[in-house]
Amino acid sequence: MRPYFGEHFGNASSIHHHGQETRAAVERARESVAKLLGCRPAEVVFTSGGTEADNLAIFGLVDPGLVNPGLARPGDHVISSMIEHHAVLNSCKHLEEKGIEVTYLPVDGRGLLYPDDLRRGLRANTKLVTIMFANNETGVLQPVEEFGKICAEADVYFHTDAVQAASKVPIRVKEIGCDLLSISGHKLHAPQGVGALYVRKGTTLEPMLYGGSHERSRRAGTENVAGIVGLGKAAELAVRGLENGEAGRIASLRDRLETTILENVEAAGVNSAGAPRVPNTSNIYFDYIEGEAMVISLDLKGLAVSTGAACSSGAIEPSHVLTAMGLRPDRARASIRFSLGKQNTAEDLDFAIQLVPASVARLRELSPLYNKITAVHS
Ligand code: PLP
Repeated sequence: MRPYFGEHFGNASSIHHHGQETRAAVERARESVAKLLGCRPAEVVFTSGGTEADNLAIFGLVDPGLVNPGLARPGDHVISSMIEHHAVLNSCKHLEEKGIEVTYLPVDGRGLLYPDDLRRGLRANTKLVTIMFANNETGVLQPVEEFGKICAEADVYFHTDAVQAASKVPIRVKEIGCDLLSISGHKLHAPQGVGALYVRKGTTLEPMLYGGSHERSRRAGTENVAGIVGLGKAAELAVRGLENGEAGRIASLRDRLETTILENVEAAGVNSAGAPRVPNTSNIYFDYIEGEAMVISLDLKGLAVSTGAACSSGAIEPSHVLTAMGLRPDRARASIRFSLGKQNTAEDLDFAIQLVPASVARLRELSPLYNKITAVHS
């Protein structure tokens, strides 16, 4: 990325050679992202991240024949799920404010959605289905290929938020059968503030920002060249990682983390343990502790974890994902998300495994409820 902050600083829309150099770099990045997703380069629209990609998919789609953006009109119907990221959930809430009815499909205790629920939820006026590929809190992988088939049969647009899936599991947009798919750079070791939306050829998309004809008139504004170059390189490395078994290595670290923690901590469990999951995410509850206190306690010792979605940290509400799975609010509040990455080593794991049980024990000593319960059992 570095040269694109300095010696290669041309505007990719300019005709002079500085511009042409950056244009070529942007197009190379587009090819790399297309390889990661299994699509044509022309089907990739660069955005400022996953949130913009989700918004562009939900608000930018155009009903063929209608001129104005916004596929769904008051009185129309959209299907999503109860466990989406707020980038999708709050977009759907906005659709509701505009008079569009939204059905939020439920999940089971493992955090899985059911294709039959989607089939049953479809109506004659359903215009769009937007369901995530992998959940950001639990890592659960949803049956997106089945959703794609159902939407194709019903002739309804299908968007999937693949922000947490990209680089963790292979993505082939043709096999999923989606019309739109979002990714975000910072989830695959690219910088923050860059992402992309796959837009299937022939899908009419109106821009949300009006301006120049960048990104084939689908996203106006001078490109974030360095960010896009970073996303392209990250996509290239992700393809290599998926081919050389990196996911298996990360999954075995994750499994060791879970097994050892559960062996050493009572009244704890893995949320979504029984569901197919991305290899790097683990969501564990530790009854009788406050998740926020645990995050602070571990952070002071050098281990960064989170409660629920990072974006809602600070909010006192328990995670909407865990409560949708049927967790009691106190257990949802006592849940911690551990995220692993390709740089993590076995030594990092040893560090975490030794730290977590000690932290839980210390916090439980301060918990009046835990002390009452252990007093009853002893
Ligand atoms: N969708 C999911 C599933 C996410 O996890 C995130 C970010 O955490 C987003 C969308 C938003 O992406 P960004 O932060 O790039 O806007």
